[in-house]
Formats: sequence, structure tokens, C-alpha cells
Amino acid sequence: MTAIRVGHLYPDYLNIYADRGNIAVLAQRAVWRSHELEVTAIGMGDPIRAGEHDLYYVGGGQDREQLLVAEDLLGKASALREVVAGGAALLAVCGGYQLLGRGYRGFHGEDMPGIGLLPLETVAGERRMIGDVLLECELEPGERRTLAGFENHAGRTRLDPGAEPLGRVLAGFGNDGESGFEGCRAGRVIGTYLHGPLLPRNPWLADWLLSQALAHRSGGEPPQLEPLPDELERQAHEVSAGRARARGGKF
Ligand code: GLN
Repeated sequence: MTAIRVGHLYPDYLNIYADRGNIAVLAQRAVWRSHELEVTAIGMGDPIRAGEHDLYYVGGGQDREQLLVAEDLLGKASALREVVAGGAALLAVCGGYQLLGRGYRGFHGEDMPGIGLLPLETVAGERRMIGDVLLECELEPGERRTLAGFENHAGRTRLDPGAEPLGRVLAGFGNDGESGFEGCRAGRVIGTYLHGPLLPRNPWLADWLLSQALAHRSGGEPPQLEPLPDELERQAHEVSAGRARARGGKF
């Protein structure tokens, strides 16, 4: 049994659409593999220390909450860069994702600094991009998977040339409603607009994160996790994917 240590950044500020539910999925899927998830909150002023966590998680929020945490997150930037370089995994959703880039200009023109961990920039547009989304991802070469979720953001995120998106949009808006890209991936760091929560209907991504976290914990390669039946999860994925397909907007 391994205790997988999760650092949950700003749970009191960044948690819309029950983004916290992602943690519950990680915890249960860890237990089903006879592991354990140890979750600690990392709030305002709390330090990030190398070696303390295997996986970091930051949820989404409205511009107002993002503004409240942005400065504090900036203070954690170099420590976060260090832990990620050391192989820790990170999942950032929506508002959290935007703050991992170089910055976010909010709907009312507020400029929020980002920490530059991901090669991207975000500026809010007039029209919110809302609805079900379906992506095609290939996090491991040759392993194509679909990711279904829900998006609701004013921010348009532009990836730098050469940056790796999390996936290609099959239906929905994605990063900016134009590029056909959604999210960003850099090694074990994943940023995405999909929430609501994301992991219950995409168990393959939960397992990918768990296995990256286990690799950090052991200092070895990401282990192959024992497969689970996932019947309910498959149905949830199909319902969500079906809604996104009905919505259209293929790139
Ligand atoms: N406030 C940001 C936006 O509107 C992020 C929203 C969110 O986290 N859902 O783009």
C-alpha cells in the first residue's frame, strides 16, 4: 500500500461546479487498488515544499476568486516549478488552469499575473463559452482516448506555438473557440477547462494521474494500474459525450 500525497491548492476559493469531486474520485480509485490518498489543503500563505506531495490539484473559480488568489500563487511560483521539475503531477481546472499561464485578463479588464508554468495566455472575451465538450486525447503515444466534460468560461486561452494541447476538440469550444485545441499538457502537468467534475466520467484520466503520482512517490516509472469494471463511469462518459456531439461545433 502506498500513500499518495495530494496537495489541494486553495480549496476554499477555487471550487466551482464541485471541482472537489475530482479528489473523491482519485481517493476511491486509489483505495480500489489498495492504495490511499492523503489530501492536504494548501491555502493562502502556506508553503509548497519539495518532496511533500506527489500530485497537486487546483480547481476553477470566478474572476473574483482568481483575483484573490493570484498574488499568493505568484509567491508559490518558483516552488511549484521546482516540484513539477522533480516529477510531481498537477491537474488544474479552468480558473486554476488560466493562472498557470503567463496571465489572465478578466472580464472587467483586471490583469491577473500567472505563474508561467504552462506556455499560454488568457484574455476574457464578451461571450461566455458554455456547454458540453468532447475531446480526443493522446497522452501516451498510440493510446487515443476521449474526454467528456463541461465548460463555462469567458477566457480565451492561446497556446504558444509548439505547446502541447491536452486534446483536440471534437465538439464544443475548447481553449478559444477557434484553434480546435483544449487545455495544455506539459509532462505531468495538465490544465483544462473541463469541469463539473471531470474525473467521474473520465476514469482513464484519473488513473493516468494516479499512476504519474505513484511514479513520483517511488522515483520509478508510472505503474500499470489494475483495471476496474467502470460500467457506471462508461455510461456517464457516454451520456456526456452524446450531449456534446448533439451540440456540435466540430473543428
Ligand atoms: N473566471 C474564468 C473565466 O470566466 C474561469 C471560469 C471558471 O473557472 N469556470 O474564464
